[in-house]
Amino acid sequence: MNKTTELNLWSSVNEIKGVGKKYSDILFKRNIKTVFDLLEVFPVFYIDFSKPEKSINEFSSVYQAKILSVNSGRNFRSRVSVLRVNVLILEENIEIIFFNKPYLKNSLTKNDIIHVFGKIDKSDSKTSIINPIISLENKDSILPIYKNIGTIKQGIIKKIINNALENLDVCDEILPKDIIQKHSFLKIAEAFRTIHKPMKSDTKGIYNAKERFKYTEFLLFQLELQFMRKLLLKKKRVFRYEYSQKLDLEINQRLEFSLTDDQTSALINIKNELSAPYSMAGLLQGDVGSGKTIIAFLSILIAVFNGYQGAILVPTEVLAFQHFKTGKKFFKNYNIEILTGSSSNMDRNRIIDELKTGEINIIIGTHSILNDEIVFKNLSLIIIDEQHKFGVAQRASLFYKSRGVDLLVMTATPIPRTMLLSVYNDLKVFSIKDKPADRKPIKTKIIPALDRDKFYQWLSLRIKEGKKAYIIMPLIEDSEFFSDLHSIEGEKNYIKNCFKPLKTGVISGKTEKDKRDDILQKFKDGSIRVILSTTVIEVGIDIKDATIIVIEDADRYGLAGIHQLRGRVGRGSIQSFCYLIPSKKITEIGKKRLKTIEQENDGFKIAEIDMKIRGGGIIAGLSQSGDISFKNGNIKNDFKLFTASKNDATDLLDSKKPITKYFDKYILQIRKKGNFLNFS
Ligand code: ADP
Ligand code: MG
Repeated sequence: MNKTTELNLWSSVNEIKGVGKKYSDILFKRNIKTVFDLLEVFPVFYIDFSKPEKSINEFSSVYQAKILSVNSGRNFRSRVSVLRVNVLILEENIEIIFFNKPYLKNSLTKNDIIHVFGKIDKSDSKTSIINPIISLENKDSILPIYKNIGTIKQGIIKKIINNALENLDVCDEILPKDIIQKHSFLKIAEAFRTIHKPMKSDTKGIYNAKERFKYTEFLLFQLELQFMRKLLLKKKRVFRYEYSQKLDLEINQRLEFSLTDDQTSALINIKNELSAPYSMAGLLQGDVGSGKTIIAFLSILIAVFNGYQGAILVPTEVLAFQHFKTGKKFFKNYNIEILTGSSSNMDRNRIIDELKTGEINIIIGTHSILNDEIVFKNLSLIIIDEQHKFGVAQRASLFYKSRGVDLLVMTATPIPRTMLLSVYNDLKVFSIKDKPADRKPIKTKIIPALDRDKFYQWLSLRIKEGKKAYIIMPLIEDSEFFSDLHSIEGEKNYIKNCFKPLKTGVISGKTEKDKRDDILQKFKDGSIRVILSTTVIEVGIDIKDATIIVIEDADRYGLAGIHQLRGRVGRGSIQSFCYLIPSKKITEIGKKRLKTIEQENDGFKIAEIDMKIRGGGIIAGLSQSGDISFKNGNIKNDFKLFTASKNDATDLLDSKKPITKYFDKYILQIRKKGNFLNFS
């Protein structure tokens, strides 16, 4: 393919120089299909060369360096080229070693001042920095750093983004002029350039540029939400449920414990909603471990008892299997099935058939059940567990699966009231604030980083006594950019050694599904008693006798994120413990966050506090704070912008005038779906 052609925002990523089949497959898989999608992949942070450190520290940092001498060579055995540069950093003699970058030699001259970003290693014999990132240009330069996308390394991402920007010819404005004016947004091309190729250290400019893209995401979301809401509000009830003594009897027979007061009233409220003249759009919120699943099951029981089908949609396979297992027991005499991305074709086809004929009463699955080919005979109730993992579009597409289906969305992340009103004002909210009677509050303790070794020795004794623990680290692999944080790969051996001869199960986002299920199963049955994992250990995982969780670098998560993680324990009657180990670079705000978690067990209160002490060192993408996922925006951090988008969306919809090509096309799509809904 000729790749010198000029691009526009809607050109396929295929057409960008440097993107071959291998990369485009990876990008497509992550829904990065157009130049626009790619340009919306923002840097995770910038290295700011204008602010060199004033003293040497043990983390990756920016330093000013004066070149003393340059020596190149080659390691003949491994054929690696080695460039050694002696420099003076903050009065110290330091050797910079570049591997495989011979071309740098010509740009490095004695007595020049350069800026480097790297980690200074002090061994007995010498002090060195290996493969730092350097800036030869003006001292104000700033360098965007991206996340790797799958196996595409961040440096390559940067290159193809630059290629795209260079060949970007026409750049259609997607926001209406008056909106750009009203909010003083940058024009689209300028905004993209500011974000990806900032000329100098201009954090304010970058911030402004990002605003307009966040706003655009929010506006799309609001347009769809408000449009759907109008339709849904008008949706007359289609499915009628009868409540008989026999149903009550069934409910009582199937319950293995008595419901808490709040569970009981949630169930009553759901029953009421299911009898209302309009179909239900409900939000069940309850802290981690408060027992939402049983409410979901009981609601589904009402549906299937009345001869309808019910569906439970969950964000991950592990959760799907967990619900399937408990569901199978609970729904004895009903036909319950599971459908996920890894179902075999044979199973899949059979399930598709049996959903159509109504043979299957209850289906539990991941987004696979949103697929177009899946048609229900008479689906009347959909439950979406841990809903924040799903985009609104996905949620909406569910509505079309059947006519006027009742919907119950469940979340463990309490949503503060202000936000709730703004996003969910069409939903009926049911809250579970109490906990099953047998629960003891989780005891939470901060372990000083200095005591880490001692702590793990102590923990290994507890494990040998028979306890089970999760150990959570923020990174999969050590990162040159986050050299102060712990990673699974980096700590694996240390942790395994601590618990020898017992085995440690290691899970990260990279672990194959089978391996991961196997580890979780062994953890459940006790043959493995320690799991070392990133935050991928699912929200909602329910292993009652896992009573210890250790969170490394805990100050780098948002409050809601830590609380969610902590909720993996404390799910039964045994006293549970949570140990927080701060990162080495903890900030004052970070300390405050940890203190809050140590003292507060109530997720609702934590969510309120979370709104107040945000920011300050939280790494994007680290925390699982349960927001609806936007590419770059975050409802909590950008709440003002979010509210603005909400009001603008209302105005735009009311005016019924064309907006811009970009939005009109989108609205047309929503209308189409909407019409379909009206027909039914
Ligand atoms: P979550 O709200 O986080 O989804 P779950 O529904 O997974 O919580 O419930 C956590 C655990 O508590 C489960 O093992 C469940 O069986 C148990 N449980 C739920 N309700 C009660 C109750 N009323 N009494 C005792 N145990 C309960
Ligand atoms: Mg749950």
